[in-house]
Amino acid sequence: MSNPKYNINTRIVKVFHEDGNQASIPPIYQSTTFKADSIDSLSTNNYDYTRSGNPTRTTLQSHLASIINCKHTWVVNSGMACLDVILSAFLKPNDELIAGEDLYGGSDRLLHFFERKSNIKINHYDTTNLELMKSKITKDTKLILLESPTNPLINVVNVKEITSYAHKINPNCIVVFDNTMMTPLLMNPLELGVDIHYESATKYLNGHHDIMAGVLACNNDEIAKKLFFVINSTGSGLAPFDSWLLIRGLKTLSIRLEREQENCMKLANYLQNLNFKVRYTGLKSHPQYNLHFSQCKGPGAVLSFETGNIKLSELIIKNCKLFSTTVSFGSVSSLISLPLKMSHASIDPNVLKERNFPQDLIRLCVGIEDINDLINDLDNAIRLAKRELNAKL
Ligand code: PLP
Repeated sequence: MSNPKYNINTRIVKVFHEDGNQASIPPIYQSTTFKADSIDSLSTNNYDYTRSGNPTRTTLQSHLASIINCKHTWVVNSGMACLDVILSAFLKPNDELIAGEDLYGGSDRLLHFFERKSNIKINHYDTTNLELMKSKITKDTKLILLESPTNPLINVVNVKEITSYAHKINPNCIVVFDNTMMTPLLMNPLELGVDIHYESATKYLNGHHDIMAGVLACNNDEIAKKLFFVINSTGSGLAPFDSWLLIRGLKTLSIRLEREQENCMKLANYLQNLNFKVRYTGLKSHPQYNLHFSQCKGPGAVLSFETGNIKLSELIIKNCKLFSTTVSFGSVSSLISLPLKMSHASIDPNVLKERNFPQDLIRLCVGIEDINDLINDLDNAIRLAKRELNAKL
């Protein structure tokens, strides 16, 4: 239905849909059931029950396939549901999985639930270390889960090299990539060779923090079939109204992200000038700047920085007024958090210590506000935090 000749910025806006009433935007099919043409056949377009398929969800899936430039997409009710579907579809007891050490806390929690419940063997390694990864991938590695840049340490993973090595050692190894930080606009993991690309659409794709959703994408028919089997069996397909909202949110993705990246770059320079240790792939000082830009078109809009003192970090967060203290990212409004106590609190503190996770690390998820207001807010918060800290000494 889509026209692949359009640039991605146009494909994001142009939603192809078929509607007998010539509606300008896709209508919502809120119905859970569809009448059969006869007892021997489904409805004309093969719909019968919304758990199995719904026209609004189909419109969204086709739209995302056009944006991602892939053969199959499925939309489910959260980013975590994507990972749940993947693990349920491809792993059985005693299978071995490799994941990064700097992994989103919720993904880590779900992996270890599968480890306890289904006896899956999970190994965490530093996925940024290519030689280490090559020494750990074996013919028994069934699945590899990658993220890049990692969240919140902003480390970069060589996706193409790891994937081609894994496929060489075990052609059946499924390489899965969580693309939540980059979005299809900045990165296309399937083009780098991965088998399944998924992302939390709760973040940038929708962009307004008002729905939960997840997107799964792949080019392989068998993989797509296995994913759909779980989605249909468990009922994790995205609801029609949420699908409709996601179609709407997606249309502004490219201008939102453009402004968010511009703001994030200015904040990164501002923080670096204050001598904080800033982690952001947009800075040439990032040790993997070249690797990042060899696989991505932009730096994204999440940065983290270390203040050198956990109390100072807590006071900075407390004193911010414009940056809301909350988990998540990808919204039009700016957020600030202390990953240790928030998004990554579900990871065992001893494990975080072993992985040298900086306790004072602050994460900024940058929105589309006026940059002067964002810098003023942070500047004010840092000044007040330093004063309060000194008063306590
Ligand atoms: N992947 C990453 C990198 C995330 O940061 C998150 C949520 O914060 C998820 C996946 C899970 O997405 P959701 O909250 O939509 O389940």
